[in-house]
Amino acid sequence: TNRVFSGVQPTGNLHLGNYLGAIRNFVGLQDTHECLYCVVDMHAITVWQDPKELAANTREVAAAYIAAGIDPKKHVIFNQSKVPAHAELAWILNCVARIGWLNRMTQFKDKAGKDREKASVGLYSYPVLMAADILAYRATHVPVGEDQKQHLELARDVAQKFNNDYAETGGTDFFPLPEPLIMGPATRVMSLRDGTKKMSKSDPSDYSRITLKDDADAIALKIRKAQTDPEPLPETVEGLEGRAGADNLVGIYAALSGLSKAEVIAKFGGRQFGVFKPALAELAVEKLSPITGEMKRMLDQDRSYIDAVLASGAERANAIAAPIYSRVREIVGFI
Ligand code: ATP
Ligand code: MG
Repeated sequence: TNRVFSGVQPTGNLHLGNYLGAIRNFVGLQDTHECLYCVVDMHAITVWQDPKELAANTREVAAAYIAAGIDPKKHVIFNQSKVPAHAELAWILNCVARIGWLNRMTQFKDKAGKDREKASVGLYSYPVLMAADILAYRATHVPVGEDQKQHLELARDVAQKFNNDYAETGGTDFFPLPEPLIMGPATRVMSLRDGTKKMSKSDPSDYSRITLKDDADAIALKIRKAQTDPEPLPETVEGLEGRAGADNLVGIYAALSGLSKAEVIAKFGGRQFGVFKPALAELAVEKLSPITGEMKRMLDQDRSYIDAVLASGAERANAIAAPIYSRVREIVGFI
């Protein structure tokens, strides 16, 4: 079978990159795959989260999933900490993964910053928990943004090593090697303040990202202030090379409109940003406001519905994961 697993961290500031690079693709897989979409609260606390905000942010990600069009009746929406198999399997996989593998992870290096000794142990072993998230359901496909490619490769290595190490007790082919699905035209949306950094929830500048809480005025303001150069847009796509800020805005326009970048350039090539930016802002508002409006409605008026979706999702997720984890216990030799 084809089983999809993916997650988003409830770290606040859900943004356009999360939508275009991940959530929008989650929606598209529903007709062809059995899907589990998780709010990964255990990943979130690898860096400090205020407990009250964590709860609100967890509901916000769930609301985004539903508002974007994931059907919680047909597919499973839940939060990670409610299903014990994630943590239990992560421990076993911590003992399978090698320190040398984790030492190569670029996200840890970026997030830990200069004073690596002060980073949490959880931040270091984050990719192993992510492998457990996927393998707990023996998922085969994982839709993610491009920044998660390295973690997916590690998940495959962990699955392979588990299968080999425990071959004698039934490990052979036990875990499928999960395939990353890095799809669509916006697999890496860049910061509006710095076209060489990815748009992130954790960027200290609010002007670096368009969030799913921004109203029309905020979206227009952030796009107006987005970093670009003084030249007008180029006449060809090739002319975007070396112009990271411009390239990013054209890419966002393309992803939101369904046009290719070449088609966007055919429309706006040679025009000033004073023309292009307002057009982009209008498009962004048009595409995002139905989703952000529905999210706001749910969060303001229908919190009990969100909580019911998460509770039912956790039950269904647990029903899939628990028998898989029982097998893992036997394979490992736990009595
Ligand atoms: P944080 O800075 O806290 O890590 P984040 O913005 O990276 O936040 P995550 O919750 O870690 O968000 O990632 C959720 C999903 O969104 C992942 O599939 C990730 O690859 C994708 N994603 C994150 N940022 C971008 C981006 N700028 N462009 C495209 N996809 C992205
Ligand atoms: Mg991230």
